[in-house]
Amino acid sequence: MSEIIKIGNHEVVHITEVRELRRQLAWHEENARKQMIKLQAQGDKIHELETTIQRKQDAGDLLFEELDDKTPPRNCGCHLFPPCIDCTNHSSSRRAIKAWKEANK
Ligand SMILES: [Zn+2]
Repeated sequence: MSEIIKIGNHEVVHITEVRELRRQLAWHEENARKQMIKLQAQGDKIHELETTIQRKQDAGDLLFEELDDKTPPRNCGCHLFPPCIDCTNHSSSRRAIKAWKEANK
């Protein structure tokens, strides 16, 4: 190791070590740059998903309000004539309303 550089008056560092450190630094910088690009892409994807979720939530809220308005309170007569007209006409709407409420707790 004959190649050395001086830092100040006393310290000496082998050129080969400096080169190696510079090479490592460049590698880490490149790595950091790639990670930043990946993070940016993930951030964009998350933002896109949040927008999609919000759009679906808004559409679901509209459907819920519509269905909730059109579904009468339960008036089951299955104990007399199963399945009763109330259950036949409205049980699937009530199931959907219940599922939406559960999902939006
Ligand atoms: Zn019934």
